[in-house]
Amino acid sequence: MNLALWLERVAAVTPERDAIFLGKERTATYGAFHERALRVAAWLVGQGIGPGDRVGLFMKNVPEYLVAQYGVWAAGGVVVPINAKLHGREAAWILDNAGASLCFTSKGLHEGLSAVSEVPCLDVTSEGWQGILATPPAHGIVPRSADDLSWLFYTSGTTGRPKGVMITNRMLHAMALSYFADVDEVTPDDTALYAAPMSHGAGIYNLMHVLKGARHVLPASGGFDEAEIFDLARHHGRVHMFCAPTMVKRMTEVAKQTGQDGAGLRTIVYGGGPMYVADITEAVAHFGPIFVQIYGQGECPMCITALSRGDVADRNHPDWQARLASVGRAQSVVELAIGDENGVPQPAGTVGEIMARGDAVMPGYWNNPEASAKTIRDGWLMTGDMGTLSADGYLTLKDRSKDLIISGGTNIYPREVEEALLLHPDVVEVSVVGRPHLEWGEDVVAFVVCRGTLDPAALDAHCLDHIARFKRPKAYFALHELPKNNYGKVLKTELRKTLEEM
Ligand code: AMP
Repeated sequence: MNLALWLERVAAVTPERDAIFLGKERTATYGAFHERALRVAAWLVGQGIGPGDRVGLFMKNVPEYLVAQYGVWAAGGVVVPINAKLHGREAAWILDNAGASLCFTSKGLHEGLSAVSEVPCLDVTSEGWQGILATPPAHGIVPRSADDLSWLFYTSGTTGRPKGVMITNRMLHAMALSYFADVDEVTPDDTALYAAPMSHGAGIYNLMHVLKGARHVLPASGGFDEAEIFDLARHHGRVHMFCAPTMVKRMTEVAKQTGQDGAGLRTIVYGGGPMYVADITEAVAHFGPIFVQIYGQGECPMCITALSRGDVADRNHPDWQARLASVGRAQSVVELAIGDENGVPQPAGTVGEIMARGDAVMPGYWNNPEASAKTIRDGWLMTGDMGTLSADGYLTLKDRSKDLIISGGTNIYPREVEEALLLHPDVVEVSVVGRPHLEWGEDVVAFVVCRGTLDPAALDAHCLDHIARFKRPKAYFALHELPKNNYGKVLKTELRKTLEEM
């Protein structure tokens, strides 16, 4: 089933309902949203672009994003969303790898890409786009099957070249329906606010809000600005947002400094990277029970586990702290297991590689059978993440296997050391990595962003109070900020390189 049918159905019943806003200004009702998508579809078909053809979306978070995306789908095409923070050359590499026929771009990104890309680019602020919107609309939506591709998701690539995850209609149907079962309800009175990149989870989450006919708000800044978010939340009300953990942390800090209470924020779904217990505890204390965590990866988008609103907020539960440190339980459409080095499922309590299976899992990587065979084994997605399952099904992540530190033959999970250090009032951010050591194999080193000056002796004493002696960092290095990729994930590879160069 073509995902664009969800839009068609809402538009048929409630064409006058508010659909898309730029900040506080409405740019489309559902009727207009659908009609514009059909005009884009008709224009694409006129260009010879049809079922299975790839079309890039290299845009900031702008209202035209949704129109272009549904237009491509209505024509039977496959969207290739590209992170707007990438360099034009990186975006051109992705378009080339995807074999894209065309790329829609937004202002400021068009020039950098079109200068280096062989794929034709069309700026959605240009007259060309106005011409597309003047095309007579297509008569209907091109039928697609559950196994057809709808999205090529290029991994953020903390190492090496990104890979194109083949996302099918079936995966997105499963993800969207599982959201209602495991993450949150959505009503027509709700508002999806897009402050994280649309090319990633935040954009994938448009589906549930289209399905239910909710409002979609693109911040006028085109990105993440705390004050703007508080203002838009107060204005629109019942706001749902997807945030990376660093965004939650920044929102809490700014809210505390400026006396904001987060009025209008209904649900913040966080995930995409580790959320430290100290940070989520502070966020819940300030904003209340509005948080739900998800754990997923492009290969099983937003859909491996969820930690419910109740689990995040229930301070009185005896397992509250342990659950907060977990990523929750398997989402309804996913089978979850911990595998040994051969991918054989292990009993509860064992640490091993997290494996997922089910309708939300990808069939493989685009044009990359070798990487696909390594990642999908006997139908299981090998996530590359290490973790452990409790007897009642809560999954706790233990860092990616390549980040694990083995010192004197003992495993040390950086996350545990980071959690402990973040409890110190001077520590703003921290990342812990292994440093090659002649005698121990590796020793533990912490890179710290501090309030004031770094005091290794104080941090050492603090660690002795919280974690086993052998897990303490043997060296601390102060940084102004941690190196991060374009989705805000800390680049431990860069930190290890820094150590090699010392
Ligand atoms: P991506 O494919 O770019 O979405 O990256 C997925 C990776 O982000 C996962 O394999 C995890 O390593 C990490 N990740 C996603 N969600 C979480 C979470 N809730 N907590 C910790 N790490 C996460």
